[in-house]
Amino acid sequence: MFEGILVEKDDAGYRATVKAIDEAQLPEGNVTVRVSHSTLNYKDALAITGKGPVVRKFPMVPGIDLVGTVEASTHPAHQVGDQVLLNGWGVGEGHWGGLAQKARLNGDWLIPLPRQFSPQQAMAIGTAGYTAMLCVLALERHGVQPQDGDIVVTGAAGGVGSVAVALLAQLGYSVVAVTGRPQDAPYLQQLGATEVLERAQFATPGKPLGKERWAGAVDVVGSHVLANICATTQYRGVVTACGLAAGMDFPATVAPFILRGVTLVGIDSVMCPRADRLLAWQRLSTDLDFDKLGHISTTVGLDEAIPLAQHLLNGQIRGRIVVDVH
Ligand code: NDP
Repeated sequence: MFEGILVEKDDAGYRATVKAIDEAQLPEGNVTVRVSHSTLNYKDALAITGKGPVVRKFPMVPGIDLVGTVEASTHPAHQVGDQVLLNGWGVGEGHWGGLAQKARLNGDWLIPLPRQFSPQQAMAIGTAGYTAMLCVLALERHGVQPQDGDIVVTGAAGGVGSVAVALLAQLGYSVVAVTGRPQDAPYLQQLGATEVLERAQFATPGKPLGKERWAGAVDVVGSHVLANICATTQYRGVVTACGLAAGMDFPATVAPFILRGVTLVGIDSVMCPRADRLLAWQRLSTDLDFDKLGHISTTVGLDEAIPLAQHLLNGQIRGRIVVDVH
C-alpha cells in the first residue's frame, strides 16, 4: 500500500482525499517509480477542486509533475535506482500522476533528473518553470535580444510568471512584471523585475493598437490582458502565450499582426517533443539562479496540497508549491 491523493467523482460528488492505495491498482506501464516529490500547478489545482475539466477518468491520482527513483523497469532507458523526472504527457489527467508515493508510467515519458538539481529543486521548477523556459526559448528562437527592449511577464507572482521573471532577468533582459498583487512588488524586484505594473490597467477592453512598449512577452493570463499586450508590442516584437488564468478568450484584432508584424507564439508543455524538453531542462540548469528558487518555492505535504489548490486558483499563492509526498 502507498499514500496518494485520489480524485473521485460519483453519486457522493467530486472530491479529493489522501488515501491508502493498493499497488495492484496502479495503471499499466513499463516503469514503476517511487515518487519523492511532486508539485501543485494550476492544472493540478483544477484537477483537485474539479473547477476545470482536467481529469478524464475516475478515480484519478492528480499531479502532472513528479521526481522519483525507478523501482522496477522493463524500459531499456531506465534502470532500477535511476532518478527520473516527468512533466505532462497527460499524466495526472488521463493516467495516474505524481501526487502519490508511487507511479507506474510509460518510460518514454521520463527523462533523467538532471544532476544539477535535487528532487526538491526540480519540483520547485516543475511544469510551470519548464514552461517559462519554453517561452524564453521561443523568444530567443524568434530573435528577441536583451538590447531590443522590455519583456513583459503577466501573472508574474504565480508559478510560470515567477520563474519567467527570474530567468529573463538572469539572461540580461529588462523585465516588466504585471501582477494583481502590487504588495508583492518587492518579491518580483528580488527576482529581477525592473518595473512592476498593476494588472488592472491591462484587464479591460483596450484599443486595437497602443503605444509600442514591449520587445517580447510571456503571457500566462489570456483574455483582455493578452489582447492588450499584443496591441502594445513594438514593431516585430514576439508574444508567447501559454496560459488562461483570466480566461480562454482572446478578444483581440489582427492589427498588431498585420500592421506591426508582431508574432504570437503558442507554448505547449504537455506534448512537447523530448528533444525540446531536454534542451529546456539543460538551459534551466545553467540559466536559473538557484538561490532565487528558494524564494520562489514553498514545500508542503500531500494533505496540505488539497486546501491549497483552491487558494492557487484564487491567485493567492506566490511562486511555486512543492509537494513532498512522504
Ligand atoms: P499560478 O496560479 O501559479 O499563476 C497564475 C497567476 O495568474 C496568478 O498567480 C496571478 O498572478 C494571475 N492570475 C490569477 N487569476 C487571474 C485572473 N483572474 N486574471 C488575471 N490574472 C490572474 O499558475 P501557473 O503559473 O501554474 O499557471 C499559469 C497559467 O499557465 C495557467 O493558466 C496554466 O494553465 C498555464 N500553463 C500552461 C502550460 C502550457 O503547457 N501551455 C504549462 C503550465 C501552465 P498575479 O497575482 O501576479 O497577477
